[in-house]
Amino acid sequence: MARVAQRLPENAPGAFFVDDTCIDCDACRQIAPATFVRSPRHGMSYVAAQPLDADAERRARMAIVACPTASIGTAPKRPVGDAVAAFPERLEDDVWYCGWHAADSYGAASYLIVRPRGNVLVDSPRASRPLHERIAALGGVATMVLSHKDDVADHAWWHARFGCERVMHAADAGRLSIERRLDGSAPVALDDELTVIPVPGHTRGSIALLYREKFLFTGDHLWWDEDDQRLDMGRGVCWYDWREQLRSLEKLRDFRFEWVLPGHGRRWRARDAADMRRALEHALQNISRR
Ligand code: SF4
Repeated sequence: MARVAQRLPENAPGAFFVDDTCIDCDACRQIAPATFVRSPRHGMSYVAAQPLDADAERRARMAIVACPTASIGTAPKRPVGDAVAAFPERLEDDVWYCGWHAADSYGAASYLIVRPRGNVLVDSPRASRPLHERIAALGGVATMVLSHKDDVADHAWWHARFGCERVMHAADAGRLSIERRLDGSAPVALDDELTVIPVPGHTRGSIALLYREKFLFTGDHLWWDEDDQRLDMGRGVCWYDWREQLRSLEKLRDFRFEWVLPGHGRRWRARDAADMRRALEHALQNISRR
């Protein structure tokens, strides 16, 4: 629970505040950008402006629910019942954002694909009874695809509740209890809508998941940089091999998609697949010069 005594001095006066336990995961800034911004001085989020209307207030309360470290508080305390019920939040078609970030994955985002043939959880949200109830009402989880070893968080908790088959690349699975371990560098079709694309680099066993040639879940391989308005990867957070990660980026030229949905960094929806392709080429040019 966020502590008033640890409230960051930058917080605007008013009910909402961030304390000094923030791990700079960016979730609150994505959910409620009118309220939360990043302090370069502290490398943490703070409340730049108190919410001014009901919708902004609801988004700020959703950030309280999503925050992996319980670093956001209100004084006096505000109820968060409707914010709890707001997750998962539909992004487009049958793809949902789970909220409920887990500290064990350093606050990475996770996603749910809802479909009649079996729902898919992409990376692990925090273990949460309310989220479990909501996902159960949406049909549960048949498959859990884990993009890489950093973002597995509470995978065992979700597996215990839904009995889902966990899919992960063997190079990252290690001693984890994983039902389906993938090998090699070739794409693997899980079915006619879902393709796993090995993208080694950030970690040796990083994978991306392509859904219906529209949604690309990228783990920590690729994200949208809001400041520079371009797709980006991070050499400073490349734990395995940068050259390999560049080759993995080139490999994405073989695929059509309109969305990039990362664990860390911003999501981005291109206007269409051609627009995404241009952004990918631009990223390749920029990143390969580093
Ligand atoms: S969601 Fe929590 S941990 Fe993440 S940036 Fe915001 S306050 Fe910090």
